[in-house]
Amino acid sequence: MCLIEMQDVWKTYPNGTVALQGIDVHIKGGEFVYVVGPSGAGKSTFIKLMYREEKPTKGEIVINGSHISRLKERYIPHMRRKIGVVFQDFKLLPKLTVYENVAFAMEVIEASKKEIKPRVMEVLELVRLKHKARSLPDQLSGGEQQRVAIARAIVNNPDLIIADEPTGNLDPETSMDIMETLLDINKRGTTVIMATHNKEIVNNVRKRVIAIEAGRIARDEQKGEYGYED
Ligand code: ADP
Ligand code: ADP
Repeated sequence: MCLIEMQDVWKTYPNGTVALQGIDVHIKGGEFVYVVGPSGAGKSTFIKLMYREEKPTKGEIVINGSHISRLKERYIPHMRRKIGVVFQDFKLLPKLTVYENVAFAMEVIEASKKEIKPRVMEVLELVRLKHKARSLPDQLSGGEQQRVAIARAIVNNPDLIIADEPTGNLDPETSMDIMETLLDINKRGTTVIMATHNKEIVNNVRKRVIAIEAGRIARDEQKGEYGYED
């Protein structure tokens, strides 16, 4: 089944920058997809369109059967429940504990207290951070903070995890650990889309590679390689 479909998608920012030009892509449920390409090529824009952080100027985007490009503002929060987003800079709430950061994502969708506690502990266990539940983000290493961000992204059982340079601020060993965590989540059935400059990971853990260059898809290969020197 097709989870994400983009058809002739274009994005021009208000200042006139053409970030994407004529993107066609199909991603099936359960896939693991890397998005690679030079800086400024359009990777973040491509990813932001998927969770309606940005709207396309032209074209159709269908996720799980819903036309998110045409979605009215009031339906966006509902759509985002099915999508977990992980950022390069983690974006944890600094005054909340690890537990509270993850629980917050469930409170937003009005889950009951009874549901929240066991589910938060379950995902903290999955990312191996149960013992840090009471810590504040700044008491954790970068890799641990990113694992909290991943726990928050998966706590509501999304169909899709979108990760924009999730290892961008991490050393190679910690990056591989974050990659293992994402692979684990993918094995449980969640689709993962990851924009990355991490050549080692892309070349060593072979998955589908979509390369974007100057706003167009330059390559789309199963078990592809990174293909750049940076
Ligand atoms: P990448 O993630 O591959 O580095 P981006 O999607 O961030 O690429 O950017 C693609 C192009 O769009 C670049 O030329 C960038 O400067 C431009 N761009 C990104 N965001 C905006 C914005 N909010 N307003 C104007 N131009 C933008
Ligand atoms: P801010 O601009 O203060 O960072 P945002 O509105 O971007 O706040 O996001 C609030 C929190 O929700 C952040 O911690 C962010 O990581 C998370 N978040 C934003 N958009 C999504 C999404 N589509 N799915 C999951 N989490 C999201």
